[in-house]
Amino acid sequence: MITANQYFRKVFGHKMYKASITICVTCPNRDGSKGTGGCIFCSEGGSGEFSASGISIADQIGKAISQVSAKAGDDAGYIAYFQSFTNTYCDPRYLENALSEASACDGIEAVSIATRPDCLGAEILAVLKKQAERMPLFVELGLQTSSDETAEFINRCYKTSEYVEAVKALKAIGANVITHIIFGLPGETRDMMMDTVKLSVDSGSDGYKFTCLYVLENTPLEKLYRDNKVEILGMEEYFDIVEEALKILPDNAVVHRFTGDGPKKILIAPEWTKNKRAVVNYINRRFGL
Ligand code: SF4
Repeated sequence: MITANQYFRKVFGHKMYKASITICVTCPNRDGSKGTGGCIFCSEGGSGEFSASGISIADQIGKAISQVSAKAGDDAGYIAYFQSFTNTYCDPRYLENALSEASACDGIEAVSIATRPDCLGAEILAVLKKQAERMPLFVELGLQTSSDETAEFINRCYKTSEYVEAVKALKAIGANVITHIIFGLPGETRDMMMDTVKLSVDSGSDGYKFTCLYVLENTPLEKLYRDNKVEILGMEEYFDIVEEALKILPDNAVVHRFTGDGPKKILIAPEWTKNKRAVVNYINRRFGL
């Protein structure tokens, strides 16, 4: 496997930073078309608590770039990151306009879109194909688990077979697929977690974002956690699982994230993810990065 930094340097010739964007989309798992209440771990912000909203895409990107440009320096590029909710769950023309606006911004060299496998109809795929021809396109799919049983428990509201089909369709239009996987979901054994990684590798995913299950305020998971129905992984235990997962990945797989860190102000557990610097140091030491 290679890290995202190594990959970006190879492909773009320099470091890449993300400029997060919020557009007017929701999620079929929240508005009732597939489900209500969302996945049990997902907060009201739709996994995008760090991004701005209510301003134009160009202004959101401009603001995000100005916040990191001093640190990033001149030799850096930016990825327009459509992060919150399900960014392909909208009118294809709306998405097309949003992508055009983002791509035209100074400094933007690639686009990344977070979405669900069941929101990639033919018209949306045509829009994404056009975007992939314009500049590198990353599409992030929240798989979390390959077990349909766990998926039902976490209220994911789509079948794993839909993920497999989506990866195939996205690769066919030239997108680079990044798969989100959560370790430590309720009821999952180590073997089940490795099965998720294997399925994703076999499906042809190009990159991975791993995270431990974390508990945010006002989510269904919070109630399960308070009722002692869910156990949260400790740091060593979690990274033992990551280490095992890395052994399954092919040499060219890109690891974009070794673990996630939920927004501190609404994060209930695990405590260890709150000390980001210590976690980063641990990851660098343990995985020789
Ligand atoms: S699909 Fe994504 S945005 Fe929708 S509820 Fe699940 S995690 Fe949240």
